[in-house]
Amino acid sequence: MSASLKRKSVIVTGGSKGIGKGIARVFAGHGAKVLIVARHLNEAEAAARELSSGGATVGAFAADVTRLSDMEAMAKAAVDRHGGLDVLCANAGIFPQAKIEEMSPESWDDVMNTNLKGAFLSVKACVPYLKQSNQPRIVMTSSITGPVTGYPGWTHYGATKAGQLGFMRTACIELAKYGITVNAVMPGNIVTEGLQGLGEAYLNTMAASIPLKRLGSVDDIGHAAAFLASREAAYITGQTIIVDGGQVQPESLEALASA
Ligand code: NAP
Repeated sequence: MSASLKRKSVIVTGGSKGIGKGIARVFAGHGAKVLIVARHLNEAEAAARELSSGGATVGAFAADVTRLSDMEAMAKAAVDRHGGLDVLCANAGIFPQAKIEEMSPESWDDVMNTNLKGAFLSVKACVPYLKQSNQPRIVMTSSITGPVTGYPGWTHYGATKAGQLGFMRTACIELAKYGITVNAVMPGNIVTEGLQGLGEAYLNTMAASIPLKRLGSVDDIGHAAAFLASREAAYITGQTIIVDGGQVQPESLEALASA
């Protein structure tokens, strides 16, 4: 798997921190050339510096996934800097919490625009270049929240994460003629910089509800994304991999406790 990602040109939207940075780190570790994309250039550059310290080729680019012109500039930058484009990891996302009764229409639109329209725009901008690759891949970061589970305050977020899978199931058919595969990783609860700030007691309580008794790492998601981008995954398209330590499996608290 490592060998098939060597020197591949990879874009990771939302790669400056959290899961995206984990995805970028894993691809860089496999010898891929990675372009980290986020709105804040300083944070993207800091992540690129950190991930390239061992000699990997990792660059940064400032772009907003809600703007098609930004996505087109991003795709062109990857091609100009890295000689082509092989993999798009459509990962950028936001998750403000608000229950229906308090949620503003503007907040709903923000989440839709970033998570769902942003994924579409990044794919649309990258397809012309992916068509020229001999191992073209799109890997989306969905979630268990929405497609499988629910969480108060995240109706808008859950709708976008389920919507991404609906997008994927038609995109994989449309793009199959170019050899482009489109798949999604569905993370459970993953430890990111943001989650760490909630404190150890909170993290321990969350871990207790997971059969493997730990939260996921950002690299756990990176490894699943790297597999879906590998040569070995060439015949997999329109599929999802849940990476959640078994979190969605217990049918009740009793099922978890009686193990
Ligand atoms: P995070 O730590 O908050 O990082 C979000 C990243 O997305 C940052 O790089 C951010 O950079 C970028 N971003 C946000 N809005 C953007 C925009 N409009 N254009 C370009 N980049 C943008 O988030 P995370 O927890 O790693 O989540 C990453 C993805 O995983 C999301 O799609 C999320 O839904 C999914 N996910 C996360 C978890 C979890 O447990 N953390 C679980 C399931 C799914 P800028 O702010 O500089 O733009």
